[in-house]
Amino acid sequence: MCIREALAQAAAELKKIPHIGTPSLDASLLLAEVLQKDRVWLIAEASRPFDEKDLHKFQSFLRRRRGGDSVAYILGRREFGSLMFTVCPAVLVPRPDTETLVEAALENLKGKKSPTVLEICTGSGAVAVALKNEAPETEIYASDISAAALEIAAANAARLLPEKSIRFFQADLFTPLPKTESDIKQNFTPLPAMPEERLFFSLILANPPYVPSAEIEGLSPDVRAEPRIALDGGPDGLSLIRRIIHEAPGHLENGGSLLLEADPRQMESIRALLVREGYTDIQTYKDLSGAERVIGASLIFEPGGKNGN
Ligand code: GLN
Repeated sequence: MCIREALAQAAAELKKIPHIGTPSLDASLLLAEVLQKDRVWLIAEASRPFDEKDLHKFQSFLRRRRGGDSVAYILGRREFGSLMFTVCPAVLVPRPDTETLVEAALENLKGKKSPTVLEICTGSGAVAVALKNEAPETEIYASDISAAALEIAAANAARLLPEKSIRFFQADLFTPLPKTESDIKQNFTPLPAMPEERLFFSLILANPPYVPSAEIEGLSPDVRAEPRIALDGGPDGLSLIRRIIHEAPGHLENGGSLLLEADPRQMESIRALLVREGYTDIQTYKDLSGAERVIGASLIFEPGGKNGN
């Protein structure tokens, strides 16, 4: 059997599984990994004999793919923006749609002098790291409730950015969780305990869980293999978004902004929530498919207002 035949056979096998949308691409990504080559090499060398010793590994990858593991989890990495991120089942696989969040943040930061940014629900750290990579002068804090996710995020930042570029901390949205021994080992830097020693951000951004709980079961096995905590946004998908919109004003500087990724169908409800909490300058940003994927708003405080800065 040659490489071309091995690929064709694998693609045909994967094609039988209804949720696998890109069987040929998946087969070639997995085979490239087995052979430690890239996909261009596979095409150029398609008539080379396929070594039996590689078959076992290729078959085990294909079995995992058929069983619902995404290619990203099998390979342990996924490209986001121009960077390659380590991923594992403790974190959501970064999506191309989420690049809209990074672009919106870059647009928002334009003209802001020495901005300080907080990303909550950072997961793999893809958004925070991509943002820091594009805007190195920005000071970035990033949090997640999951210690396992923070470990991946910190490893991605350490590999892709100059040392200690992003300050990670474990938090339930804005409320830092007590430091555990593993944090100390990981060297996570906690925020100056909020709200006592408050830090005010120029921009707060998040890709929070926003899938309505009842819709999770209907998602493809690839998505269901992702951490439920990163997807499940409660009964209407807006539980976390509601809390973020309500709590962010306590952590934004005057004129600061909030940017949220959400489902395009949720934008009207989110706009209403933002208006109710006093945000202004509300705008949406479209993803690659032309759907409204990110919503942004700013807060201007009246003198003596509740934020008090
Ligand atoms: N865009 C993701 C999906 O439905 C949801 C991500 C999220 O909840 N933040 O595949």
